Amino acid sequence: MFNNMRKLNDMTLDEWASVDIKNTVVLAKRSARNSVRYALELGKLQKLPCEYLDCRCPEVEAHHPDYTEPLSVLWLCHKHHSALHYPIYPYLRL
Ligand SMILES: [Zn+2]
Ligand SMILES: [Zn+2]
Repeated sequence: MFNNMRKLNDMTLDEWASVDIKNTVVLAKRSARNSVRYALELGKLQKLPCEYLDCRCPEVEAHHPDYTEPLSVLWLCHKHHSALHYPIYPYLRL
């Protein structure tokens, strides 16, 4: 019970939202992120500059268009990654 609570507290808002919709999505996301981290450590995957050509921000995050393909990622800076997930903020929209 408490272990479970702690796990829930560690989740991001993004993951919290998904729990209500589909628990499996959370698990898929988590394992996809772990796969990316592992592949980066092994040198099987390399970070690239932000996908947006005008941006080229070197500080990037992995975006998964499809969580069932954990190593198929798009590299986006935090701003563009957020814009993709939360298009509700007009100032981030491209
Ligand atoms: Zn993403
Ligand atoms: Zn960017």
